[in-house]
Amino acid sequence: MIRIDGSFGEGGGQIVRTSLALSLVTGKPFTIDHIRAGRDKPGLMRQHLAAVNAAAEIGHAEVSGNHLGSRRVTFEPGKIRSGRFHFTIGSAGSCTLVLQTVLPALLQAQGPSELILEGGTHNPHAPPYDFLAECFLPLLNRMGTHITTALERSGFYPAGGGKFQVSIQPARRLAPLELIGRGPIRSKLARAVVAGLPLSIAQRELSVVAERLKWGSEALVAADCMNAKGPGNVLTVEIVSDAVTEVMSAFGQRGVSAEKVARDAVRQVREYLQYDLPVGRYLADQLLLPLAMAGKGRFRTLTPTRHTQTNIEIIKRFLDVDIRLSQFADHQWEIAIIC
Ligand code: ATP
Repeated sequence: MIRIDGSFGEGGGQIVRTSLALSLVTGKPFTIDHIRAGRDKPGLMRQHLAAVNAAAEIGHAEVSGNHLGSRRVTFEPGKIRSGRFHFTIGSAGSCTLVLQTVLPALLQAQGPSELILEGGTHNPHAPPYDFLAECFLPLLNRMGTHITTALERSGFYPAGGGKFQVSIQPARRLAPLELIGRGPIRSKLARAVVAGLPLSIAQRELSVVAERLKWGSEALVAADCMNAKGPGNVLTVEIVSDAVTEVMSAFGQRGVSAEKVARDAVRQVREYLQYDLPVGRYLADQLLLPLAMAGKGRFRTLTPTRHTQTNIEIIKRFLDVDIRLSQFADHQWEIAIIC
């Protein structure tokens, strides 16, 4: 039984998700204590509980401690099953984070799977659907998987009500991936979306992007998400380069001006474009797990975040891989996975 200290490093939900994902992939049982001890409301929140229960369903697992607020979970996986799954994350809990938990196992299942996920698709502090669809899944597909996704309805925090499907063809082995230089930028697009709010909010955000990044109107799109429950607002910025498509995002919040939201997105874009690095901060911590499953790979990124450092340590508890971090210039790092 692997024992995980949930208060380690970042001390957040990612430790729970990575442990669940790798327990399913390796068949190794684990116990996690002090879940999300580093957070204001420790223990399992709805989104984390949904991830535990989804992992248990896919892995025929014996679980204890799977209730709201729980600070200790024991998880003993059985055989992974593929097929049709429908996961509803009550409230606006992030669907993409629940997918992050079960996807590695479904990639190694005997047959294909079809998932429907309902809840939040555009949550602050989680991968927005656009990041999943345009950045993360295409990279996995380059590693030999065949995953497609379709958004039926956006779900913004706190209203929720979003829905998307994912079709997964398993890949017995993942091919290694190398992302070293970004290469020339092929295209860029800033997309400001509102739900149940005036379109002028989106237009004000795009004005800031246009002015600060000197982008022309061909790179700016404002959209009203008619079929989503409001209120909601997200500004996503997609940068397509030779190596990768990165997606930065900033979320509208009550009491925060549209201009401030846009300035946050602009700051992220400038940070990303400052160096010839293909992998942004969030992608870095999320790429580790598939690369570790492949047993080999490397990428260049900004200074590793606590999420990245913590994820590395949790991965090493389940998989026999060496993950090396080396700084090769100011703020520029290479992360290599070696079997
Ligand atoms: P917590 O325990 O912190 O309340 P949590 O379970 O929601 O939270 P974290 O442990 O903080 O989550 O992990 C959040 C995950 O979401 C990380 O993998 C991070 O890379 C990803 N993420 C956060 N913001 C973005 C973003 N804007 N774009 C892409 N991915 C993101």
